[in-house]
Formats: sequence, structure tokens, C-alpha cells
Amino acid sequence: MRVRLPGGALEPAQLEVLAELAGAEPIELTSRGNMQLRGVGDLESAREQLAAAGLLPSATHERVRNIVASPLADGYREAAARLDRALVARAGLAALPGRFLFALDDGAGDVASLAADAEIRSGVLHLDGHPTDLPGAVDALLDAAQAFLDLRGDEWRVRDLSDGAARIAAALGGAVTGPRAIPAPPIVPPVGWFDRPDGAVDLGAGVPLGRLEPRLAHFVAAVEHPVTVTPWRTLVLHGLDEGAAETVVRVLAPLGLIFDANAPLLRVSACVGDHGCARAQGDSLAHAADLAGMIADDERVHVVACGRGCGAPSGEHRRVVVTEEPGE
Ligand code: SF4
Repeated sequence: MRVRLPGGALEPAQLEVLAELAGAEPIELTSRGNMQLRGVGDLESAREQLAAAGLLPSATHERVRNIVASPLADGYREAAARLDRALVARAGLAALPGRFLFALDDGAGDVASLAADAEIRSGVLHLDGHPTDLPGAVDALLDAAQAFLDLRGDEWRVRDLSDGAARIAAALGGAVTGPRAIPAPPIVPPVGWFDRPDGAVDLGAGVPLGRLEPRLAHFVAAVEHPVTVTPWRTLVLHGLDEGAAETVVRVLAPLGLIFDANAPLLRVSACVGDHGCARAQGDSLAHAADLAGMIADDERVHVVACGRGCGAPSGEHRRVVVTEEPGE
């Protein structure tokens, strides 16, 4: 099951539900800040539990609720929730392709690196990375998505549509004002201690290979603070006081969460490999864990278990294809 989390936002009680549903399997964090559960036995019951937790607000729009937001920006979590509600309220937008991506970037360029189709960046509407003279507002994002639907044939993304950004901007009464500009993804994900203007602390935590053990998920939920899943397969715990943040690091670091932004394991990722994919020719996860001790300081590696290369991170990285068991 893929559980979409607009803006990556999760409340502790929702994380608790996901940890229960995961059973013994790790919860996978995805490159769009969502979560995936494997091996869920009773799908109908799982759906009911997700719906009761507010994680399935729309049967018609589930596939299109693809929203990322700058994880450390004040108010962006709430803005993502507003966009999600407005998206679900527009019946016609249920027809969007499942790959169409909305982004809310505070100007840091972090989620802008994901090359969203319709994005607010520094208060301006961007279309496939092109700035426009249109205001960055929820309605403008949704109007752009509708214009894409009106113009598309079988294209899945704005970038696939010939002159897509300019034609969509024109349909909204505006114009593209510059070339496509996609920032590089952050070299270091938001991991560690972040002081907020209100004196509280946001605590970023790396999750080894983006796989959150259910037991650890229960512990994170027990902190009882809002959580964000980032597109870099990390977590942010929001609004802790200093004492609570210190306790979280002291308790959860020995259990596997990573609070050092320079830890090599944060620069290694892997597809699920033979832990969940029939095409796999090897154990990509085990190889990735082995590689973490050997990569250079500025290197990023993605390990896959066949030539398809699923789950690659955005930005520069070395791809390793494994076809055998670790140690062979
Ligand atoms: S890269 Fe290959 S082995 Fe890995 S998840 Fe994709 S299809 Fe499966």
C-alpha cells in the first residue's frame, strides 16, 4: 500500500496506525515524501483503518494527491493541507495523471529540485521549473493542473507536453518569464537540530535506507509531536523543546535513527530488491548497507537489483546494479 502524505505531514496518531499496519515489515519512505507498506494481509481492514485516521480522505482523488512542501518552512505543512483539500474538492482534477506533482517551495530550492509540474516558488507560480508572471496561490496551482488536463493528449507531465509551460501560462492569462530552472537537490538532507524562530526545535532524523522499522515508528509516534516525511527519505519531528529534543536523540539514535547529517548511510539508497520485488537478481539493501562504509565523502550511491533502476534519488549519483548475494 502506498499512503500519500501531502507535504509529508503525519500526526503521531497516524504514524501509530501505520506502524500497526506494517506488522513486522519496515515502512518504506518514498522520494515524494510518502510511505509504503508491504505484505499487508487484510487490505479492506487496512483501508478502513487508514480512512479512520484521516489518511484516505478521497476515494476518487487518491492517486493525484501528490504534494511536496519545504519541510522546515513555517506554515508550509498547513499550506500543503489546504492545497490537498482544494484539490480533492475539484472533481475534474481526479483525472490528472498519477505522476503530476505539486510543490510548495519556500525559496530554499529544496523541493523545487524535484521538478514539479506546478509549483509555488518564492511566491510565484512555476510550471515545470519555468517562472511565470502569475501569483503563487493554491487556485493558480489547481487552475494550471486543469489547463494541463485540457491541453494534454497522452502526456503524463508538463515537461512531456510540447511548449507545455508557456501554453498553460497563456491559458491562465499569463506568460512564462524565464528558462526552466531546477535547483540541484540538497547535498545534505535536513538532518540534525534546527532552531525555529519561536524558540522550539525541529529535529531531522535519517532513516537507514529509507526503511523505518515498525518498532522505531512506534517510538517516534510516542514523542507526540507532528512528523514530516521528507522526499529525501528522512523524518522531521516538529516543535520540540530543547530538553525533549535531547531526549529524542539520546533514546532514538541507539535504536537506529541518524542525527548526524554527514553520516555516510544518508548518501546511500537502494531499491527493495529481493525483499519485495520479483524481478530482483540480488539483495540490493544488503549491498547498500555494505557500501555505506566505503563511499567517498562527496559520493552518493543508489543500489538496484536489476537494470530497471527504480527509486533513484534526484541529482547526481552513482548507480550500482547487484546481481548476486552480498559477499559473493
Ligand atoms: S530496480 Fe529492479 S529489482 Fe529493484 S525494485 Fe525495480 S524492478 Fe525491482
